[in-house]
Amino acid sequence: MSAQSLSGSCLSFFKEQLPLQQYNSWIKPLIFEIDGDRLVLTAPNSFTLRIVQERFLSEISKRALPFFSAPPQIELRIEKRGMKPVRQPDAEPVFSKPALPVTTKATSKNLNKLNPALVFDTFVTGKANQLAHAAAIQVSETPGVAYNPLFIYGGVGLGKTHLLQSIGNLVSKQNPQARICYIHATNYISGVVRAFQTKNFDEFKQFYNSLDLLLIDDIQFIADKPGTQQEFFYTLNSLIDTNKQVVITCDTFPKEISGIEPRLTSRFTCGLTVAIEPPGLEMRVAILLQKSASSNFPISEDVAFFIAKHVRSNIRELEGALNRIEAYAKFHKRQISIDLAKEALKDLLAAQNKQVSIENIQKTVADFYRIKIVELLSKKRSRIIARPRQIAMALARELTQLSLPEIGNAFGGRDHSTVLHACKTIESLRNSDSALNADFNLLNQTLRG
Ligand code: ADP
Ligand code: MG
Repeated sequence: MSAQSLSGSCLSFFKEQLPLQQYNSWIKPLIFEIDGDRLVLTAPNSFTLRIVQERFLSEISKRALPFFSAPPQIELRIEKRGMKPVRQPDAEPVFSKPALPVTTKATSKNLNKLNPALVFDTFVTGKANQLAHAAAIQVSETPGVAYNPLFIYGGVGLGKTHLLQSIGNLVSKQNPQARICYIHATNYISGVVRAFQTKNFDEFKQFYNSLDLLLIDDIQFIADKPGTQQEFFYTLNSLIDTNKQVVITCDTFPKEISGIEPRLTSRFTCGLTVAIEPPGLEMRVAILLQKSASSNFPISEDVAFFIAKHVRSNIRELEGALNRIEAYAKFHKRQISIDLAKEALKDLLAAQNKQVSIENIQKTVADFYRIKIVELLSKKRSRIIARPRQIAMALARELTQLSLPEIGNAFGGRDHSTVLHACKTIESLRNSDSALNADFNLLNQTLRG
């Protein structure tokens, strides 16, 4: 069977599982090739590669299994385009383990899977995350007492995993005896599947029910997995009822995750729900300065401002940009300056400039439907205005990095649920109304340039 059908299988799977923007950013650009007994995945840049490696590789390797006679080795590559950038460690092929299901047996040795580098000390706080940070500290100091569960949500690369791990590390430091488990939701799902297969449900349940602290990352992955949801519902109840702390992270507000049972989402929100927002400029600068202070290449404040002005989406990309600049300086044996930063980030800056602004979206949609921008932003509800407004909101969701509240704000101060409703309406109309779908695609293409 061909790489094409393998890629088709992965694309359609993730298209269903992920929010469209994530699917478009991380999965759609991947190139799948089969080379003998290896699967070669090519990503357009190191950021995408890293995200794919962290979040999607286990699922991809699972999907790849039927296409090979034995579990394939997966090689990750970065697309070579135009001038070759500096050779970073990332540019080397990265080999993952063969795609065998990993057995995480519940022994106390590998129970917690905590990364000692992810601690509160290295977590920079600012307006965007101070609430989440404060809640995380509180929960670490009085686990099971303060808020249970603590539910942290926010976009990719904003520090959810860092906070979750920091809680684990602090609790473990204060109480080395505590039974702590950090687990990514995809591994939890694999655990449920394995328990089904090996009929070891008692052991599985016993393991989770015996924990003092359960840290579960990226819970959105259990959407559309009813068996896992049921299991998780029991675990959650049992832990909460016995005052054992549970901390959950997610990429969206609990009620917005589709494909999760209402009884579970309502359980998610019965403790405390806090958001992590994308960091503002000053906070991005602070993060860069903190990260570079601990490396051999400290950067000056003006270089930090330069990077922070151009890399706006999230902290992971900020780190990526910084690493790239450091590698570039090292390779060329030069001091870090704004000019050097410009050279090192050339590709990234070019891609950034293409980003679509919300004003541009509003103007293009208003022109297209021959209505005025003020009408688009007004409270008018007649369909002739409301539909284009919903289309513009859906486009903003897809083409910008703005959060739902930010989009709502840009549309005459509407709240995030209005934006979400607009996105859902347009998504379903695009399936049923081919004229509207064609308009949407045309606008989308025009805006992308
Ligand atoms: P998420 O889980 O939300 O996708 P991560 O926790 O993996 O994001 O964060 C991405 C990267 O950014 C990690 O390397 C993390 O250490 C770093 N990071 C995130 N938030 C902060 C912060 N507030 N201060 C310092 N580093 C941060
Ligand atoms: Mg994470």
